[in-house]
Amino acid sequence: MIFTGPHPPTPVPDTSFSSFVLEHARRHADQVALVDVKGEVSFTYGELLAAVERVAGALRTRGFGPGDVLALLAPNLPEYPVVFHAAASAGGTVVVLNPLDTTPDLLAHLNGAGAVVLVTTEEQAARAAELVAGSKLREVVVFGQAPGTTPFAELLAHDDLADGPASGTLAPGPATGPLRVTDVDAAGDVVALLHSSGSTGRPKAVMLTHRNMSANVLQTCTATPLDERERVLAVAPFHHAFGLLMVMNSSLRQGATVVTMPRFDPQAYLQAIQDHRITRLYVVPTIAVLLARSPLVDQFDLSSVRTIVSGGAALDPRIARICEERLGCRVGQGYGLTEGLVSFMQIDGSPAGSVGRATPNIEFKIVDITTGQALGPGQEGEVLIRGPHVMKGYLDAPEATREALEPDGFLHTGDLARADGDGELFLVDRIKELIKYKGQQVSPVELEAVLMTHPKVTDAAVIGVPDEEASEIPKAFLVVKEPVTAQEIITFVAERVAPYKKIRQVQFIDAIPRTPVGKTQRRALKQHQDATP
Ligand code: AMP
Repeated sequence: MIFTGPHPPTPVPDTSFSSFVLEHARRHADQVALVDVKGEVSFTYGELLAAVERVAGALRTRGFGPGDVLALLAPNLPEYPVVFHAAASAGGTVVVLNPLDTTPDLLAHLNGAGAVVLVTTEEQAARAAELVAGSKLREVVVFGQAPGTTPFAELLAHDDLADGPASGTLAPGPATGPLRVTDVDAAGDVVALLHSSGSTGRPKAVMLTHRNMSANVLQTCTATPLDERERVLAVAPFHHAFGLLMVMNSSLRQGATVVTMPRFDPQAYLQAIQDHRITRLYVVPTIAVLLARSPLVDQFDLSSVRTIVSGGAALDPRIARICEERLGCRVGQGYGLTEGLVSFMQIDGSPAGSVGRATPNIEFKIVDITTGQALGPGQEGEVLIRGPHVMKGYLDAPEATREALEPDGFLHTGDLARADGDGELFLVDRIKELIKYKGQQVSPVELEAVLMTHPKVTDAAVIGVPDEEASEIPKAFLVVKEPVTAQEIITFVAERVAPYKKIRQVQFIDAIPRTPVGKTQRRALKQHQDATP
């Protein structure tokens, strides 16, 4: 059986993603589109359009266009969407990178994507030389200034008319017209690359086309609409699908004001809600726990908040209820993957424990994990989804793509669930190898590879164990040949991985349970963990 949601199908435009997101921007030209939490940098919608056009012009004069990749390595800043849409409207692709990642991880992502321009912050510029030396990067652009890099201000000051007409099919347009974009094949051209480990293995680059991204933004605008008087606090990172699509681009499409926050700090977060009179919060469950439980919350006036939307990992319905009562607002939750959004629910409108019904243009089915047979209401199996927003595939990974995408377009989510007769989806477990720590992906396979380089470790397996604040924390099960302390192991891994990927618990065991073909039996380890707290 195929399940659909309550919304009628909606046509997805076949235009450049940037044209779609900024379609109505001139209508509210004087309204603030983006402002950083300190109020130091801001763009009205009019200024945003102008900035996108200027930076796109500067990129085009550098020969950047269709087929080229720009890497964006930055926390949430007002300039982030300017760079994203400048590269996208010049017809290029943007690979969005996590500033917390290690230099070897970043190099792997830069090289995998073939990035030629890097746009980053002064803080990150310290490792720019190393990134340039190990990749095909031709230029590093910095918000601010750093030796050997181009200041972003230089791109912002670019004047198309001074350079003569722009290249390609682009005609110089009047300042009051729509955004000028290079022609793209919306259904075929990849506009963004985001990293996800998918169902198995190490992080891979997820290819999202212009049409994929527009379809996704349409879905989120319908599922959880905003009006243009709303102010959104953007702390969910823009390099993750939740931050990039639901927070940044859906808000801009709907003309809301986006207040960017580069890093999460409880006190500063609550202060920002109060100071900017924020109406919409997008949170990972970790932040919902803070809002529900922290005594700090009582020190701030959070009465402006009307809705909270949680995503990235499972939101405990009890925490959601406490947030609703404490803040006097409505709480909703989105369930999805980098590879494709699935469903949305409102806590007060869905049965307890549900992650909601399919968003527009989405079909999903539940299949038996051994036979692949589609199941009916109430039966438990893997969720598969289909829709115009589902990724094109993993970059340069045909086998992983084949495993993820069925020939008929259905994507394997790696999540175990059941649906009721109304199409309400209830997640039961995760069958893929993935840990969600505070909404961020941690690949157990990657941590196991690091653990196996420890001279005293002979075998290793990593699973996520439940944790109220972080959703899950990575725990290592180890077989060792010589005595070693848990702390030694934790430090060893922490020195080699990004901070959010650290091992936080260790348990020594006699043997790692494996299948006859050598596959780690993570479920057996989970049961082992439950039996030995
Ligand atoms: P990512 O690609 O980083 O967004 O991770 C996607 C995975 O996060 C999904 O396949 C789920 O396992 C998990 N996830 C995302 N949203 C939710 C949610 N609302 N409830 C439970 N798990 C979720």
